[in-house]
Amino acid sequence: MKDQATQLLRSINMSVTDSRRQILDLFLENKGGALKHADIEKRLDNLDRVTIYRTLIAFTEKGVIHSIPGSDGSAKYALCHGHCTDGHHHDNHVHFQCKACGSTQCLDDVMIPPVKLPPGFFSERIEMVITGFCDQCSPRLTEIAEKRYKVSPENN
Ligand SMILES: [Zn+2]
Ligand SMILES: [Zn+2]
Ligand SMILES: [Zn+2]
Repeated sequence: MKDQATQLLRSINMSVTDSRRQILDLFLENKGGALKHADIEKRLDNLDRVTIYRTLIAFTEKGVIHSIPGSDGSAKYALCHGHCTDGHHHDNHVHFQCKACGSTQCLDDVMIPPVKLPPGFFSERIEMVITGFCDQCSPRLTEIAEKRYKVSPENN
Protein backbone atom coordinates (compact mmCIF):
# COMPACT_ATOMS: atom_id res chain seq x y z
CA MET A 1 0.00 0.00 0.00
CA LYS A 2 2.81 2.36 0.84
CA ASP A 3 3.64 4.50 -2.12
CA GLN A 4 1.32 2.85 -4.57
CA ALA A 5 2.08 5.59 -7.08
CA THR A 6 5.77 4.74 -7.24
CA GLN A 7 5.03 1.07 -7.67
CA LEU A 8 2.52 1.75 -10.40
CA LEU A 9 4.94 4.00 -12.29
CA ARG A 10 7.66 1.36 -12.07
CA SER A 11 5.32 -1.36 -13.23
CA ILE A 12 4.66 0.49 -16.47
CA ASN A 13 8.29 1.47 -16.94
CA MET A 14 7.83 5.16 -16.37
CA SER A 15 10.56 6.94 -14.51
CA VAL A 16 9.39 8.14 -11.14
CA THR A 17 9.40 11.91 -10.86
CA ASP A 18 7.95 14.04 -8.10
CA SER A 19 5.30 15.55 -10.32
CA ARG A 20 4.18 12.19 -11.71
CA ARG A 21 3.96 10.74 -8.24
CA GLN A 22 1.97 13.67 -6.88
CA ILE A 23 -0.51 13.66 -9.75
CA LEU A 24 -0.93 9.90 -9.59
CA ASP A 25 -1.45 10.14 -5.83
CA LEU A 26 -4.35 12.51 -6.42
CA PHE A 27 -6.03 10.02 -8.74
CA LEU A 28 -5.43 7.15 -6.32
CA GLU A 29 -6.92 9.11 -3.42
CA ASN A 30 -9.87 10.13 -5.55
CA LYS A 31 -11.07 6.56 -6.15
CA GLY A 32 -13.47 6.31 -9.06
CA GLY A 33 -13.89 10.06 -9.31
CA ALA A 34 -12.69 12.03 -12.28
CA LEU A 35 -10.44 15.07 -12.13
CA LYS A 36 -10.18 18.07 -14.40
CA HIS A 37 -6.90 19.69 -15.30
CA ALA A 38 -8.03 22.68 -13.24
CA ASP A 39 -8.74 20.50 -10.18
CA ILE A 40 -5.22 19.12 -10.31
CA GLU A 41 -3.77 22.57 -10.77
CA LYS A 42 -5.64 23.80 -7.72
CA ARG A 43 -4.66 20.89 -5.52
CA LEU A 44 -1.00 20.83 -6.59
CA ASP A 45 -0.15 24.48 -6.88
CA ASN A 46 3.57 23.71 -6.81
CA LEU A 47 3.31 22.26 -10.33
CA ASP A 48 2.98 24.38 -13.44
CA ARG A 49 0.27 23.89 -16.05
CA VAL A 50 2.58 22.49 -18.69
CA THR A 51 3.94 19.82 -16.37
CA ILE A 52 0.44 18.76 -15.42
CA TYR A 53 -0.66 18.79 -19.06
CA ARG A 54 2.29 16.68 -20.20
CA THR A 55 1.89 14.26 -17.33
CA LEU A 56 -1.80 13.75 -18.12
CA ILE A 57 -0.96 13.04 -21.75
CA ALA A 58 1.80 10.62 -20.80
CA PHE A 59 -0.50 8.81 -18.33
CA THR A 60 -3.22 8.58 -20.96
CA GLU A 61 -0.79 7.13 -23.50
CA LYS A 62 0.47 4.62 -20.98
CA GLY A 63 -2.97 3.34 -20.07
CA VAL A 64 -2.92 4.76 -16.54
CA ILE A 65 -5.82 7.18 -16.96
CA HIS A 66 -8.51 7.72 -19.56
CA SER A 67 -10.23 10.91 -20.57
CA ILE A 68 -13.93 11.57 -20.25
CA PRO A 69 -15.59 14.31 -22.24
CA GLY A 70 -17.02 16.91 -19.89
CA SER A 71 -20.29 18.66 -20.54
CA ASP A 72 -18.58 22.05 -20.40
CA GLY A 73 -16.09 21.04 -23.07
CA SER A 74 -13.19 20.41 -20.72
CA ALA A 75 -12.03 16.83 -20.45
CA LYS A 76 -11.84 15.01 -17.17
CA TYR A 77 -9.56 12.12 -16.37
CA ALA A 78 -10.02 9.00 -14.30
CA LEU A 79 -7.83 6.06 -13.39
CA CYS A 80 -8.02 3.05 -15.64
CA HIS A 81 -8.78 -0.20 -13.98
CA GLY A 82 -7.08 -3.39 -14.87
CA HIS A 83 -6.47 -4.11 -18.46
CA CYS A 84 -5.40 -0.89 -20.08
CA THR A 85 -1.91 -1.00 -21.48
CA ASP A 86 0.42 1.20 -23.42
CA GLY A 87 -1.71 2.66 -26.21
CA HIS A 88 -4.59 0.23 -25.69
CA HIS A 89 -7.51 1.28 -23.57
CA HIS A 90 -10.38 -0.98 -22.69
CA ASP A 91 -12.53 1.47 -20.83
CA ASN A 92 -15.84 0.52 -22.33
CA HIS A 93 -17.75 1.50 -19.22
CA VAL A 94 -20.33 4.19 -18.83
CA HIS A 95 -19.51 7.51 -17.18
CA PHE A 96 -21.92 9.31 -14.98
CA GLN A 97 -22.04 13.02 -14.40
CA CYS A 98 -24.06 14.30 -11.48
CA LYS A 99 -25.93 17.53 -12.04
CA ALA A 100 -26.15 18.23 -8.33
CA CYS A 101 -22.62 17.74 -6.99
CA GLY A 102 -20.84 18.03 -10.33
CA SER A 103 -18.87 14.82 -9.86
CA THR A 104 -18.03 12.55 -12.78
CA GLN A 105 -17.56 8.89 -12.00
CA CYS A 106 -16.60 5.72 -13.78
CA LEU A 107 -19.37 3.14 -13.56
CA ASP A 108 -16.98 0.26 -14.00
CA ASP A 109 -19.66 -2.41 -13.95
CA VAL A 110 -21.90 -0.74 -16.49
CA MET A 111 -20.75 -1.54 -20.01
CA ILE A 112 -21.57 0.51 -23.06
CA PRO A 113 -23.95 -1.61 -25.11
CA PRO A 114 -22.68 -2.71 -28.51
CA VAL A 115 -23.57 -0.29 -31.28
CA LYS A 116 -24.16 -1.58 -34.77
CA LEU A 117 -22.69 0.72 -37.38
CA PRO A 118 -23.59 0.87 -41.06
CA PRO A 119 -21.32 -1.10 -43.40
CA GLY A 120 -18.01 0.64 -44.02
CA PHE A 121 -17.85 2.36 -40.64
CA PHE A 122 -15.30 1.21 -38.10
CA SER A 123 -15.44 2.54 -34.60
CA GLU A 124 -12.24 3.33 -32.82
CA ARG A 125 -13.59 4.75 -29.63
CA ILE A 126 -16.99 5.02 -28.09
CA GLU A 127 -18.01 7.23 -25.21
CA MET A 128 -21.12 7.27 -23.12
CA VAL A 129 -21.71 9.92 -20.50
CA ILE A 130 -24.97 9.79 -18.62
CA THR A 131 -26.04 12.88 -16.73
CA GLY A 132 -28.41 12.81 -13.81
CA PHE A 133 -28.15 12.46 -10.06
CA CYS A 134 -25.63 10.21 -8.33
CA ASP A 135 -26.33 7.83 -5.45
CA GLN A 136 -25.20 10.47 -2.96
CA CYS A 137 -27.48 13.13 -4.33
CA SER A 138 -30.56 11.21 -5.42
CA PRO A 139 -31.88 10.79 -1.85
CA ARG A 140 -31.98 14.60 -1.69
CA LEU A 141 -33.55 14.89 -5.09
CA THR A 142 -36.65 16.81 -4.09
CA GLU A 143 -34.66 19.39 -2.21
CA ILE A 144 -32.20 19.77 -5.06
CA ALA A 145 -34.91 19.99 -7.66
CA GLU A 146 -36.64 22.74 -5.76
CA LYS A 147 -33.48 24.76 -5.41
CA ARG A 148 -32.28 24.23 -8.90
CA TYR A 149 -35.35 24.48 -11.02
CA LYS A 150 -37.45 26.94 -9.07
CA VAL A 151 -34.94 29.47 -7.90
CA SER A 152 -32.25 29.51 -10.55
CA PRO A 153 -33.23 28.09 -13.92
CA GLU A 154 -30.40 30.08 -15.51
CA ASN A 155 -27.88 27.69 -13.92
CA ASN A 156 -28.84 24.95 -16.25
ZN1 LIG B 1 -7.93 2.91 -20.02
ZN1 LIG C 1 -24.04 13.89 -6.90
ZN1 LIG D 1 -13.96 5.69 -16.66
